[in-house]
Amino acid sequence: MKICVVGTGYVGLVTAVTLAAKRHEVVCVDIDKEKVDRINRAETPIFEEQLPELLKSTVNAKTLSATTDLKTAIQNAEICIVCVGTPSLPNGDIDLTQVEGAAKQIGEALKEKKGFLSIVFRSTVTPGTTENIFSAVLQAFSGKKPREHFSICYSPEFLREGRAIKDALAPDKLVIGREDTIAANNWKMVSSVGCPIIETDFKTAELIKYANNAFLATKISFANELGNLAKSIGINSYAVADAIGFDPRIGKQYLRAGLGFGGSCFPKDIKALVAFAKKNNYEPKILSAVLKTNDSQVERFVHLAEKKAGSLSGKKIAVLGTAFKEGTDDIRESQAIKVIGLLLSKGAKVCAYDPKAIESTKKELGNKIEYAGSIQDCLKDAELCLICTEWPEFRIIDFSGMKNKVVIDGKHILEKKNGIDYEGLCW
Ligand code: NAD
Repeated sequence: MKICVVGTGYVGLVTAVTLAAKRHEVVCVDIDKEKVDRINRAETPIFEEQLPELLKSTVNAKTLSATTDLKTAIQNAEICIVCVGTPSLPNGDIDLTQVEGAAKQIGEALKEKKGFLSIVFRSTVTPGTTENIFSAVLQAFSGKKPREHFSICYSPEFLREGRAIKDALAPDKLVIGREDTIAANNWKMVSSVGCPIIETDFKTAELIKYANNAFLATKISFANELGNLAKSIGINSYAVADAIGFDPRIGKQYLRAGLGFGGSCFPKDIKALVAFAKKNNYEPKILSAVLKTNDSQVERFVHLAEKKAGSLSGKKIAVLGTAFKEGTDDIRESQAIKVIGLLLSKGAKVCAYDPKAIESTKKELGNKIEYAGSIQDCLKDAELCLICTEWPEFRIIDFSGMKNKVVIDGKHILEKKNGIDYEGLCW
């Protein structure tokens, strides 16, 4: 089928290449011309495993191209998939500027379109947005009627950065909110996934996405609370978590205590859900506590650094890992970046290393810190090392170049601890 994907960030680009790999004719649309040019040159604007190979093969096979011209892309498309961003406003509420803007532009383009268009919204949005914004704006700007000229469905994305291609090709579920079956059936056909499909109304589909992320974030904050308590009384919380993980009602994932969650989804989605609940006159106690515990892990980590190394002022501190997790160059809401901010406020001299996220870190922090090209450069003459991301290469490290071999592990990843003064954040 002829598909147009609007918004080619982490979700849009992965969606586009995986559909193009299935031999659909895919056109990516983005307002960012630099991103569009890079995609057309088969250069990935982000780091994600398997993405470079898939992008190259689909661009070469001419099943994938990119443009800033949404109008033409819509004229030629049978399906339009919307994956624009939904960041947080300063008060934590969801910022719908990008989705509203995209809906208006698609509505304008629909006005002149010959033929039917199925529209699939994938951005994470609070309950009511598909009906009150997407659907309403499309009708207002196109002057056309749903079901006669277009059909919409809401199908949230659940991929995890770092394994996004695998998740997009083999998701654990496909959730589809719909009012009619046209867009939903076309979406099922093109995505051709062999997983359970949950078809429901728009609002339920919207809440499923938030419930999914909120539950995982809650599990992480629970593990962190347990880890903090266990450490304070000299118990290994990882042994406790491993044991309870055998209970199938609990499961082993997302139970490793540490620095907490970051990234472009969990923090902003939980904040948006809290704000949404309050707007609907419900005070969410658990979710607010999940965020509080998460924030406090950063403070505990830096406090532990001070306890081990004394005043941090003027000291070189090596920060290993700035990405919010391994396998990505994404530093949005990364706990590591927050740790660095706190270290800087205490007068420390920070040197950071990350195997993939140095460029994105430079864009965020500029010359506030130093950047190292290798683990060894980062550690050289450092008085303290803080491990902030669980990159596999941080499992075994030679710390001999450090001035004082004090290491604090925020991710419980270091395997060889001999010859250093080691302390885990939660053990
Ligand atoms: P992103 O910020 O990386 O990408 C959004 C892209 O949309 C940008 O390239 C931006 O330039 C483009 N854009 C904005 N307005 C546009 C317009 N009018 N026309 C064309 N392009 C436009 O965002 P992301 O991380 O890919 O997330 C997209 C959505 O998916 C969000 O709602 C997010 O919550 C959700 N989501 C993200 C992930 C993840 O791991 N990143 C996982 C699941 C769901």
